[in-house]
Amino acid sequence: AKDDERRAMLAAFRDRPGETSDGRRIIIEGNIGTPGDAVRVMELGGEGVGLFRSEFLFMDRPDLPSEEEQFQAYKKAVETMDGRPVIIRTLDIGGDKEVPALDLEKEQNPFLGYRAIRICLDRTDLFLVQLRALLRAAQYGDLRIMFPMISSVDELRNAKQVLREASDLLDAEGVDYNPNVKVGIMVEIPVAAVCADVLAQEADFFSIGTNDLTQYTLAVERGNAAVAHLYAPEHPAVLRLIAMTAQAAAERHIPCGMCGEAAGDPKLAPAFVGMGVNELSMSPRRVPAVRKLLSGLTMDECRQAAEKLLHP
Ligand code: PEP
Ligand code: MG
Repeated sequence: AKDDERRAMLAAFRDRPGETSDGRRIIIEGNIGTPGDAVRVMELGGEGVGLFRSEFLFMDRPDLPSEEEQFQAYKKAVETMDGRPVIIRTLDIGGDKEVPALDLEKEQNPFLGYRAIRICLDRTDLFLVQLRALLRAAQYGDLRIMFPMISSVDELRNAKQVLREASDLLDAEGVDYNPNVKVGIMVEIPVAAVCADVLAQEADFFSIGTNDLTQYTLAVERGNAAVAHLYAPEHPAVLRLIAMTAQAAAERHIPCGMCGEAAGDPKLAPAFVGMGVNELSMSPRRVPAVRKLLSGLTMDECRQAAEKLLHP
């Protein structure tokens, strides 16, 4: 009977857009690691892909994926989503994610070290290949590019500069691509949240990564069982940073999404909406339940939920 109930709920909430009971539009999307996962996002009624973790194309293999292989993967995800937005995050490796082909050195503090955008801005040879593939795939749908682990406006500017180089190369070679791709950033390091007002001037959108934001704010390593009891995305310190980020985005009129695990947590999602987060991207299986939950709440109720958690 429980299964029947779930199925009925799923059917009821699959094909309608996410919104609160008083009509505030909240886009509910799915996170994916491979283009094949996008099929499941569609089946469960996701309104887009809020996070495609592109690093999965680079892991568990001895070599690096070519531009053509990456292009095909991104194109497939975009085509599967049939015009819906697909946010593809550029390579986010290092930390706990290993890429054998890069043979990176072991570090004392891998989460604070050579990773993600830091590697890409250093190894622009790799970065250019990925950006070319993304610009080309963007011809087939609403592909948006997102940079991970951004910690300063210079980093964002430098990443956008490499993106311009990628388009210049494609232009020079006469290769077709979409020149009008939106470029956003993950807000997942406290410095990015605190300086969100500055970053909002140069990003087309934000997506809050609660997994890393929690780890860095509380100095509690994610995935470390010995300190798991201290890991708390609902901590007021983390929530204040989220509220600051959403406010900065609202002031610049750019969308503020969230793609960390907490986005799909029914205890927290209404509060995030109350803070001004307007896109929630989660594990696809959570999409129907979160949409149902929000459809039964007014914006005022969401704001109250936020207040309660921000000032417990
Ligand atoms: C995050 O940090 O919240 C996030 C979504 O990215 P990842 O889990 O891939 O680090
Ligand atoms: Mg992260």
